[in-house]
Amino acid sequence: MLPRGFKAEAERRAVTLRAEMGLRPTDPVEAAAVAAHLRIGFRRADELIPIQALEALERTQPGCFSACTLPGPTGPVVITNPLNSLGRQQSDAFHEISHLVLRHQMRTLERVGDLVFFTCDSDDEEQANSLAATLLLPRPALVAAHARGMGVAAIAETYGVSEQLARWRLNASGVAIQIRRREPAARGATA
Ligand SMILES: [Zn+2]
Repeated sequence: MLPRGFKAEAERRAVTLRAEMGLRPTDPVEAAAVAAHLRIGFRRADELIPIQALEALERTQPGCFSACTLPGPTGPVVITNPLNSLGRQQSDAFHEISHLVLRHQMRTLERVGDLVFFTCDSDDEEQANSLAATLLLPRPALVAAHARGMGVAAIAETYGVSEQLARWRLNASGVAIQIRRREPAARGATA
């Protein structure tokens, strides 16, 4: 369960972050730019270890490495997996950035192959997922996209996210309900 008021606060953060970056509430944001703005390091994993090692890990445990945060000399560094789709890299990176913004403590140690990962408890994971999705697609962006007649695929493309995430945000933000309400008064006619 998300704490009371969490979703509204996430929406405010998404708009404030854009304003700080000189962007409008409806503008897309990229993980690399947001990380730079927040002074968080940002690297693709193949800049740190050979891509063959990532491919070997992927063969051992498919999908196990999404993104992670490591301590760097000047602060945390978010590491993304270049083997994943760009949409997934974006949402995974925003998930890590969200943990940092929310000041979550990394608690659990998980070993995958030769690599060790720190993870958070499940409440923290839910919060990071929710904030990440909201940062990528805040409500004003969804409302504006809908007003321009954009569907799930167009929203996903414009905001660099998966269609699954775009659909989730449309539902979670209530914009999907508005869309259904606005659709032809067919139901109204029979009511
Ligand atoms: Zn997490």
